[in-house]
Amino acid sequence: MAELHVGLGKNSYTILIENGLRHRLPEEIKNIYSGKKIAIITDHNVNAHYGTQLEEGLQAAGFETLVVALPPGEQTKDFQMLPQIYDQLLDFQLNRSELIIALGGGVIGDLAGFAAASFLRGVPFIQIPTSLLAQVDSSIGGKVGVDLARGKNLVGAFNQPKKVFIDPEVLSTLPDHYFRDGLGEVIKYGCIKDAEFFSFLQTLHTREEMMAHIERILYTCCDIKRRVVEADEKDTGERMLLNFGHTIAHALETYTNYAKYSHGEAVAIGMVAITRLSEKKGFTVPGTAAAIEALAKQVGLPTELHIETIDLDSLLAIMTLDKKNLDDHLKVILLKEIGVSYVQDETIAFFDELENM
Ligand code: NAD
Ligand code: ZN
Repeated sequence: MAELHVGLGKNSYTILIENGLRHRLPEEIKNIYSGKKIAIITDHNVNAHYGTQLEEGLQAAGFETLVVALPPGEQTKDFQMLPQIYDQLLDFQLNRSELIIALGGGVIGDLAGFAAASFLRGVPFIQIPTSLLAQVDSSIGGKVGVDLARGKNLVGAFNQPKKVFIDPEVLSTLPDHYFRDGLGEVIKYGCIKDAEFFSFLQTLHTREEMMAHIERILYTCCDIKRRVVEADEKDTGERMLLNFGHTIAHALETYTNYAKYSHGEAVAIGMVAITRLSEKKGFTVPGTAAAIEALAKQVGLPTELHIETIDLDSLLAIMTLDKKNLDDHLKVILLKEIGVSYVQDETIAFFDELENM
């Protein structure tokens, strides 16, 4: 069992990581919540595996429960989904001091977190992340939100949960595709902050080997994200480091209409591409891109941009339009070496060399 404290002023909370934690969630929740009603927001896949157990456990502990189970997938994280969630919460007569639980992957965490932020001007919520991506990334940091027809994550809020409960064992039912997807972010954490962790990942060749060390993996990733997010509270821009590989990844995802690459795949390609560029320009120790590439391949993630199939000008145009980049200057996240990252101010010309990769 491991516990991490996220110190965000009055919004501080803890992340609990423990194999089998799902079996004793009702007592954990009882320790931090003395109200009567709990609304569980989840998707059909996660509900089929874990919803009933959680609901029955909470009922046995004396809570009155509502399960809002939604279709799985990014299309559910939509602004238009909110009214029907609010309706069910109203029918259930959930009041402002009662609790919402987000049980699921990043889609449910973002959506339920935003519903919790906005319903009755805000009700408390708990994250129970069930995908690897949600356990190492989206459930920490307090960013919640929904998509609009015109783009992803365009409406949202900062809303810190009361607690994050992570049971690594639930990953056993996560399809391979999504497990691999989450590994893109796992590798990213090693790249930006922890060379030793990166080396450790190099020793793990199969999903089974990773699951044997999953508590350590999750703890390390959560701890890195925690530190970065806390540092950003003091406005150091540290949070940008989490975007390592993401400028190219986002552009690639947009360019291919989110149809060709999963996020983790795009991030793997992005990390390798930016590090190759950065090595060429002398900012990064030679061999770094090759090491990231080898580790990504080892876990089954793609690493080639296949620039010959891409119109570079369109890709660059998408990068400059990205909401995070004002004018044609943009902040790029580079590695000095594995484990040491920094933010550098560049113009879009930095990416011209992509053509020759
Ligand atoms: P997801 O929530 O769609 O989950 C992936 C799939 O796995 C779904 O089909 C889900 O039903 C299934 N699933 C989840 N847990 C399972 C389990 N234990 N067993 C079986 N099936 C399971 O997608 P995701 O990859 O978890 O999250 C992606 C979302 O996260 C995106 O919308 C992205 O924008 C968001 N995100 C948010 C942040 C943030 O800081 N808030 C950070 C990164 C990503
Ligand atoms: Zn990401």
